[in-house]
Amino acid sequence: MAEDYTNLPVSELLRPEGFQCPYCGRVHKTGLRHLRVRQGALNDIPEVLGKLGAKRPFVFCDANTWEAAGRRVTEILSAAGIGYALHIFHEEDLEPDERAAGSLAMHWDNTCDILMPVGSGVLNDLGKVLGHVANLPTMIIGTAPSMDGYASNSSSMLVDGIKVTLYNKCPAAIIADIDVMRQAPMRMIKSGLGDVIAKYISICEWRISHLVTGEAYCEGIATLVRHSLKKLTAAADRLTERDPETVASIVEGLVLAGMAMAFAETSRPASGLEHYFSHIWDMMCLERGQTADLHGIQVGVGTVLTMRLYQWLRTVTPDREKALASVASFDRARWEEDVRRIFGKIAPNILEIEDRVRKNDPEKHKKRLEVLCDRWDEVLKIIGEELPDIGWFENMMRSAGMPMLPQDLSFPATAQDVQDALRGSREIRDKYLGSSVLWDLGLLDEAVERVLGCAEME
Ligand SMILES: [Zn+2]
Ligand SMILES: [Zn+2]
Repeated sequence: MAEDYTNLPVSELLRPEGFQCPYCGRVHKTGLRHLRVRQGALNDIPEVLGKLGAKRPFVFCDANTWEAAGRRVTEILSAAGIGYALHIFHEEDLEPDERAAGSLAMHWDNTCDILMPVGSGVLNDLGKVLGHVANLPTMIIGTAPSMDGYASNSSSMLVDGIKVTLYNKCPAAIIADIDVMRQAPMRMIKSGLGDVIAKYISICEWRISHLVTGEAYCEGIATLVRHSLKKLTAAADRLTERDPETVASIVEGLVLAGMAMAFAETSRPASGLEHYFSHIWDMMCLERGQTADLHGIQVGVGTVLTMRLYQWLRTVTPDREKALASVASFDRARWEEDVRRIFGKIAPNILEIEDRVRKNDPEKHKKRLEVLCDRWDEVLKIIGEELPDIGWFENMMRSAGMPMLPQDLSFPATAQDVQDALRGSREIRDKYLGSSVLWDLGLLDEAVERVLGCAEME
């Protein structure tokens, strides 16, 4: 029977049979079975292992996460009489690549029946890849609330020097001890906040895409995400004090975002234009041999930029003739040149996407433009309902000490990099974003000029 799940706490959304959704009619479920978010949650490890029927974990961490939680995890296992294998990475800058995955495989102990990465981003991603290869469950011991990949069924990896998403399996359990999490480096905690507040944009663009392209949408999943945004933003001003409740809200928001993606079976509920700013900055840094900033820090800056773009978009009136003229004058050669400049060595992959998707095709454009022009009041209504007041939003970010502008990033992002990220955003995937709306309306150049003309980005 259809049951409204939108008011349930995260921990009650885990049942194996999932939920028959009263909003979209589909069944939503996650592979995550056990979630412990509380102070002292590390002590739950033996009990949760028992529930999963696992006897011998393969624990792995790096030198930092060993200090943060790894040592304590092994003590808890020993005290409970549970044997384990242990691997500590000593590399300075561990990358989620062939080398790290290979190293893990070579230290693999065949008597283990569960993987136990202790850490966040990279260690998590590696755990899911190896768990997939070994066909074993993963229990994640989180050490920093830095990104929403904890509960996702994919890993962001570097394969042959290119960033790709590998789909594998959700972890079976996540242990997030708030006593550990709140001691994480402050920038990692802020990164988590950045990855959660991005969801304002994700949900807004999901609805716009549903309207313009007919993409499947679920109001139930969107409601879940809105609840976690509300809870988190109310506590954001206590982030700099490492307030346990605020840190727990970030962790819950991140786990929920991962689950929302599993429920929707797409990244839509958790990733919109703001994420594409970050993805393209990652690609640029990789190409230039620079180190990018933390994912959620970049996403937070991308969210501020995207909010400003929408703020401007609300003031325009679609002009059908202007939009048609803009597409009629579309210069494929110039566009290709831009793609090659922005994407460097992965440009051929990007050009191939357009050959397949053909989003620049005039007939397809015309269809989307008709919807935008005829139903612009509905687009404005969606933006008005989903995006918070920009003054309130930027104050909330400031009160949490969040990096907000490109110049706050740890690598030197130029005005050109910011503009290129907006232009390139609509090319990476067949995903309808704010930049797609701007392109369809023939306003992308003007938006770049007016909103991202970086000199006045104060
Ligand atoms: Zn649904
Ligand atoms: Zn993210």
